[in-house]
Amino acid sequence: MRPGASFHQMWRELLPVGRSAATGGYRRHAWTGADAECRAWFRAQAEARALAYETDRNGNQWAWLDGSDGAAGNAVVTGSHLDSVPDGGAFDGPLGVVSAFAALDELHGRGVRPARPLAVVNFADEEGARFGLACVGSRLAAGQLTPEQARELRDDDGVSLPRAMERAGHDPDAIGPDPERLARIGAFVELHIEQGRNLAAEDAPPGAAGAPAAGRAVGVASAIWPHGRWRFDFRGEANHAGTTRLEDRRDPMLTYANTVLAARKKARLAGALATFGKVAVEPNGVNAIASLVRGWLDSRAPDEETLAAVVAEIERSAAERGARDGVRVAVTRESATPVVEFAHGLRDRIAARLGGAPVLPTGAGHDAGILSAEIPTAMLFVRNPTGVSHSPAESAEEDDCVAGVRALADVLEDLACP
Ligand SMILES: [Zn+2]
Repeated sequence: MRPGASFHQMWRELLPVGRSAATGGYRRHAWTGADAECRAWFRAQAEARALAYETDRNGNQWAWLDGSDGAAGNAVVTGSHLDSVPDGGAFDGPLGVVSAFAALDELHGRGVRPARPLAVVNFADEEGARFGLACVGSRLAAGQLTPEQARELRDDDGVSLPRAMERAGHDPDAIGPDPERLARIGAFVELHIEQGRNLAAEDAPPGAAGAPAAGRAVGVASAIWPHGRWRFDFRGEANHAGTTRLEDRRDPMLTYANTVLAARKKARLAGALATFGKVAVEPNGVNAIASLVRGWLDSRAPDEETLAAVVAEIERSAAERGARDGVRVAVTRESATPVVEFAHGLRDRIAARLGGAPVLPTGAGHDAGILSAEIPTAMLFVRNPTGVSHSPAESAEEDDCVAGVRALADVLEDLACP
C-alpha cells in the first residue's frame, strides 16, 4: 500500500457525512443523525482492523490494539473528535481520527508490533455546538463536568443532553467520571489541523538545524491559551419601531453593539482575543425595538490574569453603556478553561523525534487540553495554509496530511515500542 493510501480512502468515505449541500460546511452536531453516521464509521474502522471496540459511559469511542505489556498506565492513545461546529470544515477533528487509524496502518506496514497497548479515540461532543459546552465527553471522563451539570445542558430546541443521548441509543444514566479508563493511559497524543497560520507563515518558528521540510508541515503544541464563554443578557423594553421617540427608547441592541466594539478594542489592547459570534434577540421583529439581546462572548488570552482583566473591562464597558441606554446588563460565565501547559517531557521528546519540529501555542481548546490535567498529553499540528478554521474553507494540503500521518506513526512507535 502506498504511503497515505489508507488515509485517502478513509478521508473519502467520511467526506460526505453531514455536509450541507448549500454551504459545503459540516453539521455534525453531537448525538444527531450525522454524528451517528460518523460514529458508525469509527466502529467500522475499528472492526476492519480487528481492534477491540468499546463505547465508554460518556459516549466516547475507543479502538484498542493490545500490546504485550498492558500494565496499568502504559497505554498510548491517539485520536480527536468527529463532531463539528455549525458549518465547520472537514479537518477540525476528523483529521486527527483518520490520521490515528492511518498511523496504525503505517506501523503495521513497517512491521512494528507495539509493546504497549495502543488506542484510537473519538471524543463525544468536543465542539459544544449543540449544548453550548465544549469537550463534554472528555470533561465528564476527567471529572471536570459533573453528571448533574451535564444533565442540565439543553440545545436550542430545549432537548436535554440526556434525552439526546438516549435518542441516539446511548444510556445517559451512566455518564460520569471514568478514572479507571484514564488510569490505563500513559500518554495521549492528539493530532489536529492548526487553527491559525503559525506553521504556514513565512516566519514560522524554524526547526532545529538541518530539520527536514516536514518540520513545518507538522508542529508540536506548547500550550493552550486559557479561554472561556460568557453570556451577556441585555434587557431593555420592547416597543414600536415607528412610533417610539428615540429618547424614550430602552434599546438593548445599542448596548449590545457598543459592547461588541468595546470587546474588540479591549482585546486588541491586551494582546488577547474577544469575539461575539452568537446572538439571540427577542422578540426578533424588524419593526420592533428588542426587549432582550443575548450575546455570547468567547475570549482567550496568553495567561489567565490577562483574560480576567479583558473580560472585566468588557463587562464594565457594557454596564456603563447600559446605564446610558436604560438597559440592564447581566453576565453569566458559562465555561472557563484554564491555561494548559502540555507535559514538557513528552512535548520535547516528540519535537526531537520529529527532527526538531516547531513548538507553538494555540488559542483553540481541545480534548487534549482537558485530559492534560489527568495524564501526560501532547498535540501535533498539521499546517493550515490559510489558517481558516471553523469554516467550510478550512483546508490542508494532501502532502501535509500524509506527513502528519507519518509523524504520528513515528511518535507512536517511539512511545509504544520502548
Ligand atoms: Zn477540534
